[in-house]
Amino acid sequence: AEEAVYRSHKDWEDTFETITDAITIHDSNYNIIRTNKAGKELLNLPELEKNLKLKCYTYYHGTEKPPAGCPSCNCIKDGMSGIFEIFETHLNRYLEIRAIPRLNNNKQVVGLIHVVRDISEHKRFEFELINAKEKAEENDKLKSAFLANMSHEIRTPMNGILGFAGLLKNQKLSIDDQQTYIEIIEKSGQRLLSTINDIVEISKIESGQLVIHNKKINLNNVFKELFDFFKPEANKKSIELICDNVQNKSELIIETDLTKLNQIITNLLINALKFTETGSITFGYKLNEQFVEFFVKDTGIGIAPENQEIIFERFRQGSISLTRDYEGSGLGLSISKAFIELLGGKIWLKSELNAGTTFYFTIPIK
Ligand code: ADP
Repeated sequence: AEEAVYRSHKDWEDTFETITDAITIHDSNYNIIRTNKAGKELLNLPELEKNLKLKCYTYYHGTEKPPAGCPSCNCIKDGMSGIFEIFETHLNRYLEIRAIPRLNNNKQVVGLIHVVRDISEHKRFEFELINAKEKAEENDKLKSAFLANMSHEIRTPMNGILGFAGLLKNQKLSIDDQQTYIEIIEKSGQRLLSTINDIVEISKIESGQLVIHNKKINLNNVFKELFDFFKPEANKKSIELICDNVQNKSELIIETDLTKLNQIITNLLINALKFTETGSITFGYKLNEQFVEFFVKDTGIGIAPENQEIIFERFRQGSISLTRDYEGSGLGLSISKAFIELLGGKIWLKSELNAGTTFYFTIPIK
């Protein structure tokens, strides 16, 4: 009989001390009277056994009574076991706590036992899974919107080209009509080419094949050329185009990738022209110690605060509804952002709805 008692006690002690769940044993006043090795590690209770009569709710929650909904109360009052999950701020961990009543020979409650499992990792996986699922659903939606946009962006100019090429076959056309149709075909071709270029650029970015070709460039020349290129388009919309630098700044020569810099500013100017109906577009740069800071400022429709970050993502447009007010593939800004980061700079914006938008970006000075 002694051996049986010894075995039972020894088996219980060995199990108690080696199990990886933290176990705390409490009296009927919620005082912790014992904990196992895992409990001391997980719950930071190294001094506990010297420091008995510590109420669990005071230790865990810093309160004078058990918090509402705590299953330990039912345990002590009615002898009912319970399980709950809680984020313990002072441990910075998610815990699953089982409360089990301790009963004496007469089935009276003399305390309770907490079996505590650290489920932080499990919770982290759960959150990651939920995030990944949401991201996948979001990507799926974006891809569908992208495909719809793409087919629109390819079909519209294609229809223009084929339709007006067909009309040109008519031998009785006046010279003026011929010229108009040829211009439409030319414009449609350019629009198609720019969409295809965007798709090619984004695939290069995705597959990590972007290469920088640095050379010395004169910034004022770059700005002058961009100004001359965009001036007629701005005139057509009666928008004032102002280049901050052309006349009054001394020459600045920097070493960077000219094609990429041109494309970044071009993308920003195209957007500024697209989203501005009246007022002006100003573009230019200023010098900081280590960076050239470029800007393109418009007085257009502005960008709602909730869209100011997401428009830099691929395929994103200010609105992804199917009734699109503005043409575009939603790739321009993500291409510009990738280029700027590759050149060692960053891009950001300030905008107010119906007042205008200013895009800023930096490029390190070499
Ligand atoms: P796209 O112009 O082809 O739609 P972008 O990546 O260039 O793609 O721009 C993404 C979105 O950002 C646009 O659809 C538009 O909603 C918003 N946006 C960009 N530039 C401006 C601007 N200057 N003013 C207002 N909205 C802008």
